[in-house]
Amino acid sequence: MTDAAPADEQLPLTLLKGVGPQLAAKLAQLGISTILDLLFHLPLRYQDRTRLTPIAALRQGDDVVIEGMVAGCAVVQGRRRSLMVKVQDGSGVTTLRFFHFSAAQERALAVGARIRAYGEVRWGKAGVELYHPEYQLLQGSAPIALEDHLTPVYPATEGLQQTRLRKLLDQVFVYLDTQHALPELLPEELRQKMHFMPLMDALRVIHYPPPDLTPARLQSGEHPAQRRLVFEELLANYLSLRRLRDQARSQAAAPLQGDGSLRQALLRALPFPLTKAQRRVSEEISRDLSAAQPMLRLVQGDVGSGKTLVAVLAALQAVEAGYQAVLMAPTEILAEQHFLTLDAWLSPLGVELAFLSGRIKGKKRDAALEALRSGQARLIVGTHALFQNEVQFARLGLVIVDEQHRFGVHQRLSLREKGHSAGAWPHQLIMTATPIPRTLTMSAYADLDCSVIDELPPGRTPVNTVLLPAERRAAVVARIAAACALGRQAYWVCTLIEESEVLECQAAEATFADLCAALPALKLGLIHGRMKPREKAQVMSQFKNGELQLLVATTVIEVGVDVPNASLMIIENPERLGLAQLHQLRGRVGRGASESHCVLLYQNPLSGAGKERLSIMRESNDGFYIAQKDLEIRGPGEILGARQSGLAQLRIADLGRDSALQPAVRQWGEWIRAEHPALAAPLIRRWLAQTERYGNV
Ligand code: ADP
Ligand code: MG
Repeated sequence: MTDAAPADEQLPLTLLKGVGPQLAAKLAQLGISTILDLLFHLPLRYQDRTRLTPIAALRQGDDVVIEGMVAGCAVVQGRRRSLMVKVQDGSGVTTLRFFHFSAAQERALAVGARIRAYGEVRWGKAGVELYHPEYQLLQGSAPIALEDHLTPVYPATEGLQQTRLRKLLDQVFVYLDTQHALPELLPEELRQKMHFMPLMDALRVIHYPPPDLTPARLQSGEHPAQRRLVFEELLANYLSLRRLRDQARSQAAAPLQGDGSLRQALLRALPFPLTKAQRRVSEEISRDLSAAQPMLRLVQGDVGSGKTLVAVLAALQAVEAGYQAVLMAPTEILAEQHFLTLDAWLSPLGVELAFLSGRIKGKKRDAALEALRSGQARLIVGTHALFQNEVQFARLGLVIVDEQHRFGVHQRLSLREKGHSAGAWPHQLIMTATPIPRTLTMSAYADLDCSVIDELPPGRTPVNTVLLPAERRAAVVARIAAACALGRQAYWVCTLIEESEVLECQAAEATFADLCAALPALKLGLIHGRMKPREKAQVMSQFKNGELQLLVATTVIEVGVDVPNASLMIIENPERLGLAQLHQLRGRVGRGASESHCVLLYQNPLSGAGKERLSIMRESNDGFYIAQKDLEIRGPGEILGARQSGLAQLRIADLGRDSALQPAVRQWGEWIRAEHPALAAPLIRRWLAQTERYGNV
């Protein structure tokens, strides 16, 4: 069965009263250019104006309604001229602060006036304040009713008021109710089986929250209106990624058959056999590479599961078939390290390697570029620098991206574009550093096939993790001395709250100085993000070959670094990091045969939730379990890495909270692709902003 594609609803904003060029321009800044864009401009959050908060109970960050008597009003000349209005209720006093105000306002806010104010609580010089609250002066002493429902707060822009958006939405609903009914895009069968309410009803609930939509209910995401819209949004995103994949798969790629000679030679030379999981995943990849459509595969595996070897086997298959392969890493350190590993494995086999990163300059760079262009280099390792314009490949067959969670969908696409030449597209293999919960893979990576290396090489002893308060630092330092006396090596990882590389590096330098003084008998090294790439590489190689015993580092060592003799890691202030990131860091130890330890040296006081989070680290070494917990506690941003995870900006869905819907989204998504393919494009257009649609929709 097929549907005719529903007509596009290009209802212009000019159908609404009062939308002139100026307002239209403001709305355009929010990506709103049609009536339906407005309808799907969903509230960012809600304010609770249904109850009053006593002033004594104000907490920073809360959105509140307060009511009280003006106890003082003065214009203050600080850095900015501001009007400060003191308000007191029975419980306490707070200040309302206005930066823009009129003389009339100042007069009206006279001592003794009764006022109700709505706003966000902030910390000011004189304790908690409300900055620029909306307010209302109350006449007489009779109580005035509060709202009986939550107040939506929309994404807005400078000069576009919430009230303006609300009024426009009123018009949108009237227009759609009377002039132009909005068609459902979800087929009847789906809506019935999922018990979904009609789309317009759901939208009405979200824009005009009824009294039963309480903050608690909202948070749970279980209101039928939310579920309906969340599902449809996730479905649209799923369909968009699947479409992207269909487009990619319809392109031609060179089948990379290979005769297995190089792969067998490598496996014979290795001191260990592949794990069962490595073998299985390698076979999956090998099959994809032999096909005439580009492979799009994601390899997931816990830290230390041996993804590098799997990647190298894939690369060798390309080389056997007469093609080049590139392996791209997100950092210099990691790229450098991959190069050393590959060099050791592959030079004996006569495979020509090349290395390219930002720090390769001058003659060396020219030589590397020439080796890539001429085809002399068969396997190329590097960083983003591999995809600059002047880099040309002779016959690129396979692109491997390591630790992909730092790149979004857009970057994935541009990599493919760059590798594309003369009608053939490279195969693409993506490896994640951090395991990703299955439900999240279904949404964030729906454009890829997925293989999981669900087994660690034998002989690993799980890392023993302990939590200690910072007061025990001296004991921890003694422990490092003892471990190093036994020939072991250790990491000391410094973290910082602020996302400031400068401060983080300063902290690492200070810690380095302290530890040098405390451990005079040891050789210490320091590595952080602001050092020159060459310096970093040097420190890393000194640590790797045992010249350094203790490496003080920032989180730059997070991914991929492999020094099997390092068996002790101290992480300072672990409470500042996400669990997935901690797990990734901890994965730097436990790589050799000796028992490894990780000390989480936390700062007191630790909140209850903070303690619980760190306990998960102590209890589990399973990256998938930890990632699932992280998803529940901190949301998907942490796991997917980048702020812009590559997923479209979601309007209502929350990948963490709504993950349970994901299997149904996938199942119905495939059903729509099979039974109602014409619905995919309009669904994508309805939910994804122009700039977020991949491929041509
Ligand atoms: P990750 O999956 O975290 O990228 P790596 O590829 O860095 O892991 O591998 C971690 C370590 O395990 C490396 O020292 C690697 O040589 C080793 N290794 C890989 N495969 C096996 C195996 N099948 N048996 C034993 N050791 C292995
Ligand atoms: Mg790795």
